[in-house]
Amino acid sequence: MTTRSAPQPAPPAAPRADYPAGCQVLFTGDEIREAVERLGDEVRATYGRDELTIVVVLHGGLVFAADLMRRLDMPMRLGVALASSYRGAATSPGELQVQMHPGLDVAGRHVLLVDDILDTGRTLLRLRDSIRALDARSVRLATLVDKPSRRIAPLQADFTGFTIPDLFIVGYGLDWNERYRNLPDIVALPPGGGR
Ligand code: 5GP
Ligand code: MG
Repeated sequence: MTTRSAPQPAPPAAPRADYPAGCQVLFTGDEIREAVERLGDEVRATYGRDELTIVVVLHGGLVFAADLMRRLDMPMRLGVALASSYRGAATSPGELQVQMHPGLDVAGRHVLLVDDILDTGRTLLRLRDSIRALDARSVRLATLVDKPSRRIAPLQADFTGFTIPDLFIVGYGLDWNERYRNLPDIVALPPGGGR
């Protein structure tokens, strides 16, 4: 059972030991919360009371999608897709692999693909085409972060939280070598080190 006492002033933020060495905080948890609220408003204004099928791109989109979906109040279904393009210790893309949740039922439905970051655009372009091929009624893209300077595929997100230059970021779902997904802030790794 949870017992609630009178609210206390928040303690000063303690530095966490699990942040990468030499990293720079780009967006705090509070700034991310505000961005997700704004995106929630935009998504609600777009779909109204229409049913929405959210397809979360795992693993990076998981934290963002969990927060975004709780800002939405239309009838909702949830599916997942798996994408991986970074290999081992590299921060440059390897071979792209995407896999749709077996049995994902999107025919005739409005689909919102939710991912952590739009970089070259290859992942979301491939997933969008796969979902279109399943006869979805509409497919839109929501990304928390956009790195437009890196784009290869002709693709724009319909809903974007933040736009950044060409930095490698971790936290709030984004990993480096499967680490740091649990950081509440989004931080940039120092170029070539500090990991
Ligand atoms: P894209 O196909 O757009 O090049 O890549 C998308 C995926 O690459 C993202 O969903 C994410 O998993 C990964 N990615 C791209 N840029 C970054 C970055 O700065 N940090 C991390 N952690 N992952 C990234
Ligand atoms: Mg991803």
